[in-house]
Amino acid sequence: MARRITIIGGGLAGCEAAWQAAGMGTPVVLYEMKPQRFSPAHISPRLGELVCSNSLRSNSPANAVGLLKEELRKLGSFLMQAAEETRVPAGDALAVDRQAFAERITAALGANLGVQIIREEITRIPPEEIIVIASGPLTSSSLADSIKELTGEKDLYFYDAIAPIVDGESINREVAFRASRYGEGSDYLNCPMNREEYHSFTAELIRAEKVPYRDFEKGVHFEGCLPIEEMAERGEETLAHGPMKPVGLRDPRTGKMPYAVVQLRHEDQQGMSYNLVGFQTKLKWK
Ligand SMILES: Cc1cc2nc3c(=O)[nH]c(=O)nc-3n(C[C@H](O)[C@H](O)[C@H](O)COP(=O)(O)OP(=O)(O)OC[C@H]3O[C@@H](n4cnc5c(N)ncnc54)[C@H](O)[C@@H]3O)c2cc1C
Repeated sequence: MARRITIIGGGLAGCEAAWQAAGMGTPVVLYEMKPQRFSPAHISPRLGELVCSNSLRSNSPANAVGLLKEELRKLGSFLMQAAEETRVPAGDALAVDRQAFAERITAALGANLGVQIIREEITRIPPEEIIVIASGPLTSSSLADSIKELTGEKDLYFYDAIAPIVDGESINREVAFRASRYGEGSDYLNCPMNREEYHSFTAELIRAEKVPYRDFEKGVHFEGCLPIEEMAERGEETLAHGPMKPVGLRDPRTGKMPYAVVQLRHEDQQGMSYNLVGFQTKLKWK
């Protein structure tokens, strides 16, 4: 009989690893600390929970992230299949209905006889021979200490930002228009701004109250995922050339390219709620 694999963490990495190992006939024990204990960002008891954006980014094999997905599919990725089954319209990106996605993963792993799921926090790296640590960026503190001890690493930390979700009913459909960039479909809802609206928006962003850092954070930003207010502080036009860039879009009300645009992407398959594309933020909300 094949040797058993212990996997810590039922997030994206742990679930894929568990499915693949079980598929090869290796018995798997998968430990997940939810629902007894939640990280500061996880809220659902389900496995495979996406905590921030519902987009897995480009699906086009013409770039690195899309090619990686294609390779995953060819290797029989379980998560890619769940993503295809629960995808929402998002142009050439692969975005999912996160609840349906996590439900699909939880149900399939629960029904997999090769995987034993134990809902328990692992506080120290266990002595078993084969262990996959897939506890993610918000690994619980005692396990993180045990990883630090093993690796001699001192700087394990994570910076959190919020990806707001917009209620579909709050969108003014007389202003917002449907289009993907360069006329390639109509999956996105675009909220156009003229020059004055854009500058008053960025000024408000800079003035707004921010959430203070939590104890697992340091104020060091990941440049590929900057909060929008941080981008606004870096320069007046930074957002207009970043997540709010209007290129490839024409506002049907004016027939022209807007000065800036906020793009909205489906959050769910019903179109009841939307994500703000590229809008991570540390702003307070009421
Ligand atoms: C706030 C936030 C925002 C993010 N935004 C994005 C984004 O927009 N795009 C992006 O690509 N990535 C984002 N990430 C990174 C994201 O976490 C990863 O892309 C992805 O979730 C990593 O998958 P994972 O399986 O490694 O970790 P996770 O999905 O975090 O899964 C880890 C699992 O391990 C469990 N766990 C932790 N410690 C223990 C323990 N001691 N014992 C048992 N179980 C444990 C957790 O409960 C969790 O279910 C974000 C992360 C956070 C925290």
